Amino acid sequence: MQRYSLLAISLFVSCATKQAKPEKSAVDNPKSLKMELVHGKWFNGQEFIERTVWVEDGLLSFDNIENEVDTVLDLSEKFVIPPFAEAHNHNLESDYELEKRIDDYLKNGVFYVKHLSAIKMQLQPLMHHYNKPSGLDISTTYAPLTGTGGHPIAIREKFFDWGYYDIFDSKQDIESHGYFVIDTEQDLTKKWGHILSFEPEFIKINLLYSEEYEMRKNDPVYFGKKGLDPKLVGKIVEKAHTDGLRVSAHVETAHDFHVAVMAGVDEVAHLPEIKNGQPIAPEDIKMAKEKGITTVTTISLVQKREKQPNFQALMENIGNNLEQFKREGAKLAIGSDNFNGNSVDEFELLQKLGIFTNLELLKMWTENSTETIFPNRKVGKLHDGYEASFLVLDIDPLIAISEVTEHIDLRIKQGIILD
Ligand SMILES: [Zn+2]
Repeated sequence: MQRYSLLAISLFVSCATKQAKPEKSAVDNPKSLKMELVHGKWFNGQEFIERTVWVEDGLLSFDNIENEVDTVLDLSEKFVIPPFAEAHNHNLESDYELEKRIDDYLKNGVFYVKHLSAIKMQLQPLMHHYNKPSGLDISTTYAPLTGTGGHPIAIREKFFDWGYYDIFDSKQDIESHGYFVIDTEQDLTKKWGHILSFEPEFIKINLLYSEEYEMRKNDPVYFGKKGLDPKLVGKIVEKAHTDGLRVSAHVETAHDFHVAVMAGVDEVAHLPEIKNGQPIAPEDIKMAKEKGITTVTTISLVQKREKQPNFQALMENIGNNLEQFKREGAKLAIGSDNFNGNSVDEFELLQKLGIFTNLELLKMWTENSTETIFPNRKVGKLHDGYEASFLVLDIDPLIAISEVTEHIDLRIKQGIILD
């Protein structure tokens, strides 16, 4: 049995990896340790409690495990929290600088990512990078459901013109891989089997300016700036739930949010009104709370509008809408939708708004974000029997949470110390 203090951990990791030359498969699949963790202050969802915790078979145990441990780790009064998560991104389906992006997630303590659409033919060859005990875990869907000429058709076709999609011979081939057009209930019935054949982990639907659906639907001026017929959303949710799939809705406007919440989606993938600056109806936020719907923030998208004259007004409206969520206790998760980043900048912006307490922010970025990515896994909380995945901080985040990722001393995922 080995005893280590937190200071010795970096040495421990380098020694352990240097001992005898491991086979390549051993490097790819490092062993989960049998550990006794002493003198750590563990976050219980409300506060930090000093306790001894054991790790066996990649899981946390609050009772002394029967087998002898191979490592005792002294956490020296430091603060143990669940890992962070990114509840909205699309940046894991291209191999360009992929390893750098994955490392950046893990370095910042972000272990879980929700990938809110992907072309399966592009993502599939990269899946060996994900969902390993020692690496980044992702949950993904493939082609989102939209109306004729709706989002993301314009952007997919632009990517085709730019030569990003050598997997397709023509723009027409993108349909079903990059989006499904659903204009009627008949389309839904006819295409549902095809949608499920991709084995998505959830269904993504696109709502854009649904209050103007009739006006926009046949007008090519709105190509890419429209989405599903709002009347179909309830039917889609019903079908998805019957097949055990959660539904995530892209929204632009307060009305899109209303449609999504009324239909009983499970997640709204953006805070609405980031571009337009309208208030969200308080009754709709109340209903989101009652139905247990999670809304993903993505407010850092507003930074693209920094030079617009209405930028201050947009920021103010975002603040007001978020305050309503806080007042109602409606669930928020942290996601950035930023291809060149991850949820760290999104978190920092939310923190700077000064609306939420450190406790609320911590729970949003750990519990809430993880729950909406992996609703059926024992992750995102430090409970007995949950996965032994956590971060050890050298600060108390309930006191100082700004730039918290600079204060990570140790990252453990499923009982494996990440180097
Ligand atoms: Zn997105």
